[in-house]
Amino acid sequence: MDFTIPSHVQEIARRVRDFVEAEVIPAEQVVRHSPAGITDELLRDLRQKAKTARLWAPQLPVELGGLGLSLAEIVPVFEAAGRSLLGAPALNCAAPDEGNMHLLHLFANEAQRETYLRPLASGAIRSGFAMTEPPPGAGSDPTMLRTRAESDGDDWIINGHKWWTSGANGAAFLLIMARTDPDLPASKGSTIFLSPIDAPGIEIVRDIPHMGGSAIGGHGEIKFHDLRLPSSAVLGKLGEGFALTQARLGPARLTHCMRWTGIAQRALEIATQYAVEREAFGKRLADHQSIQWMLADSQTELHMGRLLIHHAAWLLEQGSQARQETSMAKVFVAETVNRVIDRAIQICGGLGISRDLPLSEWYEAARAFRIYDGASEVHRMVIARQVVKAYGGAKS
Ligand SMILES: Cc1cc2nc3c(=O)[nH]c(=O)nc-3n(C[C@H](O)[C@H](O)[C@H](O)COP(=O)(O)OP(=O)(O)OC[C@H]3O[C@@H](n4cnc5c(N)ncnc54)[C@H](O)[C@@H]3O)c2cc1C
Repeated sequence: MDFTIPSHVQEIARRVRDFVEAEVIPAEQVVRHSPAGITDELLRDLRQKAKTARLWAPQLPVELGGLGLSLAEIVPVFEAAGRSLLGAPALNCAAPDEGNMHLLHLFANEAQRETYLRPLASGAIRSGFAMTEPPPGAGSDPTMLRTRAESDGDDWIINGHKWWTSGANGAAFLLIMARTDPDLPASKGSTIFLSPIDAPGIEIVRDIPHMGGSAIGGHGEIKFHDLRLPSSAVLGKLGEGFALTQARLGPARLTHCMRWTGIAQRALEIATQYAVEREAFGKRLADHQSIQWMLADSQTELHMGRLLIHHAAWLLEQGSQARQETSMAKVFVAETVNRVIDRAIQICGGLGISRDLPLSEWYEAARAFRIYDGASEVHRMVIARQVVKAYGGAKS
């Protein structure tokens, strides 16, 4: 593969980085000191500035108001946006909307595009993806899906219980994964439905309290009580829910990796700045070998992560499912990000633990990345299966 980043992409990445530095990072302070976290007003303001700077939605096609970059092209651009946890929301390239827009762009019919995709692309509304269920339902193993959709004439009636639906609070609509044919395995008998969140029968039970600061729209626990949806609410084809989810999750795992690499890179820079300014035992921290090793390991692992992301993105663009490569990127980058932030805190000593720096906030927020979009253990299982298969030891 060719690792050259086209000059127009480099230019966009540079402009995104400058935008995040000038407009977004100053807003972090406001959010840090506000009990409500990021307000709608602040988000609207940042988004307007991103549109004015012509940096809106780098991943979306031009006809949807985006910059029309491909998956491989967005790698450095999303990293630049990800240098602040507010950067991707400001550019409308944050989870879960970014993955949902990708899925809708691939599979929504004309009416669904008008109702859901266009307003989402313009930033007028937000969305949620409701797949995970509390035990004993779907979690790491999505085939344990229990939410049911039963046909009733031309309609579907949905009953079930979801949680960890990111962004649910304030979202306009949900993508809901439900079993439509109980006689088939879940992987073949499940369907994604589109529903306005204020439809009768949707109960937002709570916004789940969690470690890692406030995310936009939180993470919702939701119950469906006889939610009635017309057959036009089906996204794609009946029974194809798992195939659609795969089309969403492959790229979405990589975009998470791209954005989190931005935060980890910034953590390394903060640690480096402290190490060159602070002295102990007669010399700069940066001149102590154990600190140098931490800096070197972080730099090396970030570089390895970028290469894994680039390669998997390139494979997906070639039409490969790149299951093993996206899993390798997800495990490695999620664990790297956690290690890099941890080392940065160690290098900064007490200041690293304080809320004067953003490191402690990132440390808390990054922990979940080893769990969502597939826990590290699950991705290792996927990788190992390929290793065994290649050896000729697949289960019959
Ligand atoms: C911040 C956050 C945001 C999220 N956003 C969304 C969202 O928007 N929409 C959505 O649908 N879901 C979302 N999720 C849910 C997330 O995808 C699940 O938490 C994840 O898939 C794991 O499922 P689980 O929590 O049920 O864990 P479980 O399935 O109960 O697994 C628990 C642990 O068991 C271990 N484990 C599981 N399988 C294996 C295995 N094969 N081998 C070895 N160990 C294993 C892993 O260590 C795992 O962490 C979010 C979660 C978090 C924390």
